Amino acid sequence: FQNPADGWFKLLTQEEGEYYNVPCADATQDLLKLKSQMQKSSQKKPLVMRSDTNAQTQSKKDMIRATEFNFIKVLGKGSFGKVMLAERKGTEDLFAIKILKKDVIIQDDDVECTMIEKRVLALGEKPPFLVQLHSCFQTLDRLFFVMEYVNGGDLMFQIQQFGKFKEPVAVFYAAEIAAGLFFLHSKGILYRDLKLDNVLLDADGHIKIADFGMCKENIIGDKTTKTFCGTPDYIAPEIILYQPYGKSVDWWAYGVLLYEMLVGQPPKIRGNFLTKQPNKRLGCGPTGEADVRIHPFFRRIDWEKIENREVQPPFKPKIKHRKDVSNFDRQFTSEKTDLTPTDKLFMMNFDQTEFRGFSYVNPDYAVPV
Ligand code: ATP
Ligand code: MG
Repeated sequence: FQNPADGWFKLLTQEEGEYYNVPCADATQDLLKLKSQMQKSSQKKPLVMRSDTNAQTQSKKDMIRATEFNFIKVLGKGSFGKVMLAERKGTEDLFAIKILKKDVIIQDDDVECTMIEKRVLALGEKPPFLVQLHSCFQTLDRLFFVMEYVNGGDLMFQIQQFGKFKEPVAVFYAAEIAAGLFFLHSKGILYRDLKLDNVLLDADGHIKIADFGMCKENIIGDKTTKTFCGTPDYIAPEIILYQPYGKSVDWWAYGVLLYEMLVGQPPKIRGNFLTKQPNKRLGCGPTGEADVRIHPFFRRIDWEKIENREVQPPFKPKIKHRKDVSNFDRQFTSEKTDLTPTDKLFMMNFDQTEFRGFSYVNPDYAVPV
């Protein structure tokens, strides 16, 4: 109390600190350092960190922290963040961790999207065609999705190697992707970002859909939504026309993806999935799921076997060793793994309660074999 601080400060209580899952000794130290720097500086502006002391989501011992991992390589980067290969210290367990910066999320008004991404990843009884979530945690400046590491790379990478796929290969991937979409749609979830780079191959060559950052929940029955979103080559005409839409947009993107797998480039002509009118498009009517299953394109597919992952994949990705990342683009894997610091003033001022309920540990996580 020799140098009284000028201004308003609120330190986190232990309870608040635990709720925010301030993950590790060094983050706590950082915060303390930061606070003392702030106090020393001649800041006149009040710094208020809002909080909700009722919120206590997990006990301390269940929490996963950033310091538990060694970050090994960058696997990919998208519009929102990056995904890194990480090893849990003291174990041989590898994970792919998607890292998003809170300041960017808040500035882009994407808090809700990240919470949806978490909820969809955390859904129970998912088919094996959707990437598994191990846990979620947060630091003061970042959100972390700890996922199973799917080491065969994405279909974009595979297409770049092969040019295009033979029909039976495309049929197999398409069937497994359809099984993933059937599940999401049955839960009232629109995926809205189906594209080659969001479909990964596991070590055996089965597919895993990743990236649930654009999902829309509660689209059940006749319910529709209107948000303009998607990736240019894959956006359905009804989105472009600002019409209310439902699962039809996923079947449009599915058609584009199928075309790209078969032809090796984005579509110029139309097929059954690329019918402009959503109500006439395959997969979109009231019997959509059955219509897809019995379509002649899938005449050789035994859906039950597909859904049990009993159909042998057409191609087994080459994986030289446990931490091999050669199925990922060198543009990413050659990048440094450091996490750049966030603007501290910004970090002290924004509302951490926005991310309430993010931290999570999946009780059903199954270690991939
Ligand atoms: P968004 O599309 O919401 O902006 P994003 O594109 O930044 O998200 P993702 O698509 O989730 O993020 O991941 C980016 C890339 O990281 C993927 O294309 C893929 O190559 C790689 N990746 C993502 N999840 C995994 C995973 N579980 N295992 C291995 N690689 C992954
Ligand atoms: Mg993506």
